[in-house]
Amino acid sequence: MNLFDAVIIGGGACGLMCAVQAGFLGKRVLVLEKNSKPGAKILISGGGRCNYTNLNVSAANFISQNKHFCKSAFSQWTVDDTITFFETYGITGQEKTLGQLFPVSNKAQDIVAVFTNLCKELGQEIRCNCEVKAVRKTADGFRVEYEENGIARSLSAPKLVIASGGLPIAKMGATDFGLRAARNFDLTVTETAPALVPLTITGKDSEWFAALAGNTIYSRVWNNKASFEENILFTHWGLSGPAILQISSYWQPGEEIFMDLLPSGDISERISHEREHNGKKLLLNFLAGIYTKKFADALGKYLPVDKNLASLSRREVDAIRQFIHHFRVKPAGTKGYDKAEVMRGGVSTDELNSKTLESKQVNGLFFGGECVDVTGWLGGYNFQWAWASGYVIAQHL
Ligand SMILES: Cc1cc2nc3c(=O)[nH]c(=O)nc-3n(C[C@H](O)[C@H](O)[C@H](O)COP(=O)(O)OP(=O)(O)OC[C@H]3O[C@@H](n4cnc5c(N)ncnc54)[C@H](O)[C@@H]3O)c2cc1C
Repeated sequence: MNLFDAVIIGGGACGLMCAVQAGFLGKRVLVLEKNSKPGAKILISGGGRCNYTNLNVSAANFISQNKHFCKSAFSQWTVDDTITFFETYGITGQEKTLGQLFPVSNKAQDIVAVFTNLCKELGQEIRCNCEVKAVRKTADGFRVEYEENGIARSLSAPKLVIASGGLPIAKMGATDFGLRAARNFDLTVTETAPALVPLTITGKDSEWFAALAGNTIYSRVWNNKASFEENILFTHWGLSGPAILQISSYWQPGEEIFMDLLPSGDISERISHEREHNGKKLLLNFLAGIYTKKFADALGKYLPVDKNLASLSRREVDAIRQFIHHFRVKPAGTKGYDKAEVMRGGVSTDELNSKTLESKQVNGLFFGGECVDVTGWLGGYNFQWAWASGYVIAQHL
């Protein structure tokens, strides 16, 4: 006899939302979670404050081989639904920047508590320290084999939800289980890569970047697929900061990225304006006024910073303009899954019904959250996908 209507693998954002929503519909589920507590990534998200959604969510903020796939889930569970849901359980949101919503309390644990309290009230069991090792289809559902505190166990359920997340940060519980399970069911998995991840610089430019460690510059960063205007941060090993994390999701090894280090205006116009009143000013001091002294000093490697503004030739001003507004970098790589916020790629959207997130090939098998090939931008988009996909799956258990 099945004790549960469904087993959910993974007690993260998607699995917890799915368990609660299934509970509202009177369905009994069991959540199997590898860690000793649910919601590990929610707890560390947004620097421990949890940027739990974004006011401006649309399909354009997601990367997927099928850019339309997420639309159905987002129409079934909207940003307003997320806001209302959390408000109902005592969490008011505040917008920090660019539509990013955080709890007023600034405590990610408040978000996790909503789910653990609701699961308790609804009688939904979250069984921790349980790592699922294998799943297989049976005549009337699925057999799930797992280890609870190292002891092998198994159980059956008519429906199975795989919400085991992506590959980033193994020490927080991340596994490749979702991808492995999909392949075992003969489902296609699209190529995966770390995303929302810092980029490394090696070779001849690396010392120049390292010397600038700690400098933040508001920039526009772009490649041939996307463009973002936010801060970049120089580090000892390369580049980080929100604009870099964003473009990293669109970056392929070997490609260049481009930066406008002064998106608010044209540097040559600013030079000619300054020159009229202050022609004796050194380019170094002029640049230090826009950026920092450290950054202006470092620009001396490429620009004639020892010259005064009046003595700059037209060709030199053009070179400065090109450098500042069209700064090019060829990253060596990324900081990898240990530093990535999400995984790009995953279970192919071709395999899933976009309205239900059920496998087209295997009845009763659902995939949600990060293990699916739907990857959001930085800024609360990934949680919105996790909540929405969890909600949608719950409607069909
Ligand atoms: C540092 C950091 C900060 C982030 N900040 C934000 C943010 O502010 N806003 C935002 O929108 N997104 C943020 N993200 C991304 C966000 O955390 C994820 O997109 C989201 O958690 C995905 O939800 P999920 O339920 O699919 O996976 P997860 O939340 O990762 O949950 C999957 C769960 O499955 C468990 N599991 C894995 N394998 C097994 C197995 N074999 N058996 C049993 N359990 C298993 C894991 O332990 C985990 O608890 C951040 C990510 C990181 C790493």
